[in-house]
Amino acid sequence: MFTIKQPPNIVYGKNSASEYNFPKNSLLITSSGAKNRNWFSYINFEPSLIYDQVEPNPSIETVNKIIEIFQKKDFTTVVGLGGGSVLDVAKYVAYKLKKQKILIPTNFGSGSEVTRISVLKVNGLKKSFHDDQLFADVAIVDSNFAEIMNTETLKNSVIDACAQCTEAYDSKLSNPYTKFLCSTAFDILEDAILNKNPEKLALGSMISGLGFGNSSTTFGHALSYVFSNEGISHGHALAFTTIAAHNFNKSQFYLRFKNLVKVLNFEKISINQNLDNASELILSDRKHLDNNPLEVSKNDIIDILKQINNQNSV
Ligand SMILES: [Zn+2]
Repeated sequence: MFTIKQPPNIVYGKNSASEYNFPKNSLLITSSGAKNRNWFSYINFEPSLIYDQVEPNPSIETVNKIIEIFQKKDFTTVVGLGGGSVLDVAKYVAYKLKKQKILIPTNFGSGSEVTRISVLKVNGLKKSFHDDQLFADVAIVDSNFAEIMNTETLKNSVIDACAQCTEAYDSKLSNPYTKFLCSTAFDILEDAILNKNPEKLALGSMISGLGFGNSSTTFGHALSYVFSNEGISHGHALAFTTIAAHNFNKSQFYLRFKNLVKVLNFEKISINQNLDNASELILSDRKHLDNNPLEVSKNDIIDILKQINNQNSV
């Protein structure tokens, strides 16, 4: 038995955000770059309330601060406009305040607009919250935003989407529907990278979100958080931790994923933390590891962290 869950409305396509009719009575949540990038005029929307200070890798304190500022104001809808960090904050705020959610990704990789997951820092460490009430009411995926992403953001985002769909394909929670979505997503993303096609990036990332959102990411993601805790971005960490995980799991995607990391030309990563402590922390991430196709031991993790630290090139 399996269940498929996704947002009730997904609007996909070029210009979809600029043509959407937003409810005026909204709180728009975004990051400080939104104004300079002319996003407000692009989506053609003047909300009654704006919060534009969401930071990268946001913490639960940001959510609490927004709730404190706006909870007594009159609005029906939270509109999240930004990257994964902004969407994770917007959906959590809306969930806590029981408002309608409209999510518009401006970079493509997290798939946050179509998942029931919000990743927020708690006590300095990333934690992922999973709840059906975190689903958007409307997800608007406008590929025009993909064309203005800078190279570094694009690299980190697209490899995240590739890690998500390939890990999820192999996940114990996968089913024929998610496998179909995940392998289709990977084909599209691979083509987007090799042929430099930003529009396909938006499509691949959305389908990856629908696929992994209905199954789960696994070992590659579990391994990545100790690197992120030392300041390496999520996608950059996954470029190497997901290769290692695919190798361990003997995933059918190992070589194709490795090739994309090479094409995108990621810099090596390493971890400074004591490997014994890091592996304990990784091993405690049961949400990811229980869904991994193979069982993982503490020694396996230490070996992999050593390999990542010692590698010279991909
Ligand atoms: Zn991810």
